[in-house]
Amino acid sequence: MADPSYEVVVGLEVHVELKTKSKMFCGCANAFGAGPNTNTCPVCLGMPGALPVLNREAVRMAVAAALAFNCTIRQRSRFDRKQYFYPDLPKAYQISQYDAPFAEWGSVAIRSGSTRRTVRIRRIHMEEDAGKLNHLGQNLQSSAGSLVDLNRAGVPLIEIVSEPDMSSADEARAYLNELRTVLSYVDVSDLRMEEGSMRCDANVSMKPVGFVGSLEDLPRVEIKNVNSVRNVGRAIEYEIARQSRLLAAGEAITKETRGFNDASARTYSQRSKEEANDYRYFPEPDLPPLMLTGEWIASVKAGLPTLPDAWRERLTGMGIADQDIETLVHDPAQLAFLTRCLEYESDVRLVTTWMLSDMLRLLNAADLTFAESPVGPEQLAELLHLIGDGTLSGRMGKELLENMFATGKSAKTLIEQLGMAQITDDRVLREQVTSVIADHAKVVEDYRSGKAKALGFLVGQVMKRTRGQASPEVVNRLLREMLDE
Ligand code: ADP
Ligand code: MG
Ligand code: ZN
Repeated sequence: MADPSYEVVVGLEVHVELKTKSKMFCGCANAFGAGPNTNTCPVCLGMPGALPVLNREAVRMAVAAALAFNCTIRQRSRFDRKQYFYPDLPKAYQISQYDAPFAEWGSVAIRSGSTRRTVRIRRIHMEEDAGKLNHLGQNLQSSAGSLVDLNRAGVPLIEIVSEPDMSSADEARAYLNELRTVLSYVDVSDLRMEEGSMRCDANVSMKPVGFVGSLEDLPRVEIKNVNSVRNVGRAIEYEIARQSRLLAAGEAITKETRGFNDASARTYSQRSKEEANDYRYFPEPDLPPLMLTGEWIASVKAGLPTLPDAWRERLTGMGIADQDIETLVHDPAQLAFLTRCLEYESDVRLVTTWMLSDMLRLLNAADLTFAESPVGPEQLAELLHLIGDGTLSGRMGKELLENMFATGKSAKTLIEQLGMAQITDDRVLREQVTSVIADHAKVVEDYRSGKAKALGFLVGQVMKRTRGQASPEVVNRLLREMLDE
C-alpha cells in the first residue's frame, strides 16, 4: 500500500474544552446536557453592545495545561476576531488568538511500539467555542431544518497545534493518548471525545523522499472533528491509502477539508481549505491585551501535580518494569492506589505484582476502577504483611483477597472468622508430621534411599491433613529434621 518514494506526514490540532464553572467571557454556566439555550445571556448570544469579560480561571487552566507541555508562556498576548458566518455563531466572529497566542513551543514525548520520539507543539491558543446545530432527521443534506443550541457558545477552549512531526496513524494515536493523559493529571477538562469536550482535526500529507522545502507547502488534507482516538487512527489510515492511490495514478492531491464517516471508515470531501486571510483576523477591540506576570505564571506552575514523565522516572527508580509503568501512568486511580499502598508496605514490586494481577482481575470482573475498589490500599497492604510474616501462605492470601473483595472486610477480621490462619507452630505441626511418617513407611524408605521427590509427597500429605493451613516451609523443615537424623 505505502509507496516507498513518499513519507507520511501528520500534524494534529486538538481542541479541549476547559471545565470552568462559567463561560469564557460571561457568567453563564459551563455545563453539558442542560435544556437547549438555558445557559445563555446577551454576551454569549452575541447581542450588539454586550461586552466580554475574560474568565480568570479559564486563563489559569489554559496556562496550567500549556506548562504541563513545557510550553513557553507569552506574558503579553492578545485576542483576535476570527470572522466567519455559520448559524452556530451568532456574532459572526469567534474570539480567538491569532499571531500572539499565549503559549508556544512545547513538546509531548510519545511511545509507539518500541520507538520513542518527541512531537513538538507549535502553539496553544485560547478561544471560545461555538454553539451546536441539531439537524432534524439523519443529516444536514436530508434535514427539513436545524435547531440551534447556544449553551456551548462561549465555553472556553484551548487549541493545541502540533508540528507535523508524526509519520503514522499509530503515532497519532500515541500522541492523542499521551495528550489526554497529561491533561487528565492537570485536571482542566472532562476530555470526553464522544461528548465533544476534546476534538481532533488531523492533517495528512505525503512527502516525496528527499523533499527539502517547507512541509507547509505540501498539499495537505485536514480531516475535521473526528470523535475518538480510534477513529483518528482509522481516518488517517484511510487517508494515507487514498493519497497513495492518487499519487500512484499520477494524480495530484488537492488541498481540502474532509470529514470522516464512521460507518464506512472513509473520509469524504467537504470543501476546499480556507486560508487564514479568508477570516480577516483583527485584534479584538473589546478586550485589552492579556498580561501575565512572571510571578503569577510561576504560581500556576507550582500548583501542577507530579506529571506522567516525572512519575515514569520515579517508578523506574523504584524498579518497576516499563510495561507496568505505562499501565500505571495511564490510570491515575491506579497510581493513586499504589502510592497510598506504599505508605503502608514499602516493597514496591510486591505491591505492583498484586495490584496488576489479582486486584486487577477482580476489579475487571466487577467492572470497577481502583478508585472504587472494595479493598482499599491500606487493606491490601495489611494482607501483604500477613503473607510476609507467615500468617498466610501466598495461596491463602489469594483466596482471602477474593473474600475481602466480596465482603469488604479486612484480612484480620476474616482470618479470625474463618479460622484461616496458617499453622506455623512447630509443636502442632510436628504431631502431624509424625503421624504422616508413621502412615507412609514405604515412601519414607524411598526418600531415605535417595528419592528426593518422595519428600514432596509427604509434605502434600501434611497439607491435606491440615486443610492447606500448614506452612509448607515449616513442614518441609520438620520432615527433613526428622527423616535426615
Ligand atoms: P490551519 O488554520 O490551516 O488549520 P494551523 O496553523 O491551525 O492551520 O494548523 C496547521 C496544522 O497542520 C498543524 O497541526 C501542522 O502540524 C499541520 N501541518 C502542516 N504541514 C503539514 C503537512 N505537510 N502534513 C501534515 N500536516 C501538516
Ligand atoms: Mg486549524
Ligand atoms: Zn452568557
